[in-house]
Amino acid sequence: MHIRKQRLLTPGPTPLYPPALHAMMASDIHHRTEDFRKAYRSCLSDLKEVLATSNDVLMFAASGTGAMDATVSNLLSKGDKVIVCSAGKFGERWVEIAKAYGLEAKVLSVPYGQVVPPEALQQALAEEPATRAVFVQASETSTGAAHDVRAMGLAIAKTEAIFVVDAITGLGTMPLDIDAWGLDVLIGGSQKAFMVPPGLAFLSISPKAWKFADTGTLPHYYFNLKKEKKSGDGGESSWTPATSLVLAMSEALRYIKQLGMAKLIENAQMLAQATRAAVTRIGLELFAPDSPAASATAVRAPAGMDSGVIVKEFRNRFGAVIANGQGSMKGQIFRIAHLGYFDFADLFAVVAGLEVILNANGFPVNYGTGVAAVQEIYEAAAVRQPVTA
Ligand SMILES: *Cc1c(COP(=O)(O)O)cnc(C)c1O
Repeated sequence: MHIRKQRLLTPGPTPLYPPALHAMMASDIHHRTEDFRKAYRSCLSDLKEVLATSNDVLMFAASGTGAMDATVSNLLSKGDKVIVCSAGKFGERWVEIAKAYGLEAKVLSVPYGQVVPPEALQQALAEEPATRAVFVQASETSTGAAHDVRAMGLAIAKTEAIFVVDAITGLGTMPLDIDAWGLDVLIGGSQKAFMVPPGLAFLSISPKAWKFADTGTLPHYYFNLKKEKKSGDGGESSWTPATSLVLAMSEALRYIKQLGMAKLIENAQMLAQATRAAVTRIGLELFAPDSPAASATAVRAPAGMDSGVIVKEFRNRFGAVIANGQGSMKGQIFRIAHLGYFDFADLFAVVAGLEVILNANGFPVNYGTGVAAVQEIYEAAAVRQPVTA
């Protein structure tokens, strides 16, 4: 038996920032104490700082979907007209949530791999002036495509509707100017670019969206935005918080602040660019070539090869977990993640491993073809950003 180091290379959960992991061991702490209040308060304020918004920021013990659910149940009413821009499995999640709560949803959907053009949204808004909310994914993790939320936000800002952005993998991988672009509710989760285990969801909420909390009549209890805001102001959460995750998140936020959000984004974008160059040079096709996200790169498996073979081979040969396609994309694509705690050394390994796997499974690759593409982009990037000792 040889050593196969376990490597988590999926677009959520992502590799953990080690000091964040270590911080979790200090969770023998009571949440209604001044020590924990201090930690909770600074976690919320650091989060607000890295989101670079003047909007309120709230946090929940939940996976990202919890904050999506909370947004709908707190801000809307049964029968409300909403628009869902759906470009993949997570867009379909918005459709399912809207259906579960009895909203009247117009769904603007595009084939997997594409994104909803802002013009289509503009037209739909013009056709239905009573629209109360628009839902979208900044980065649609299932297809590796990114929406133009800036153009969408600027169009929605001129209407009565609020813009609800699932930025769970958009945060830390693409610029998101919450205040200037009118991103009324912006949702994130701990297990993506924030380098922390799953279990914390958070959102920012604009004054325009807060008004909806006064009129929304849908039932909700655990997820109560107004109550959570009041609790947060006092340095507490409404219910028992996920203390270990809050401590981890605080540590990760310290790191992100030190690095700078812009650098975290640039890091993901550089790795995504290098991945696109590598897989293209190997002779594979990108799944979302026109609007690629920097959170994850979705790649089509070679003709006649199930992408599950590539995923399985990564696990068996190298102990590495990469993502298959979801739903009907399963078997068609595989996804390489870049969000959060990833670096060039990870990518050299992934691309070199991919070359081995393709070669062994009937898709000949001259060794080093894709790796060279990553090396070239590494070199170009190192020129921009001098290597430090
Ligand atoms: C991961 C993810 C979610 C949240 O999924 P959870 O399993 O609830 O954390 C939502 N939207 C997108 C785009 C995601 O990538």
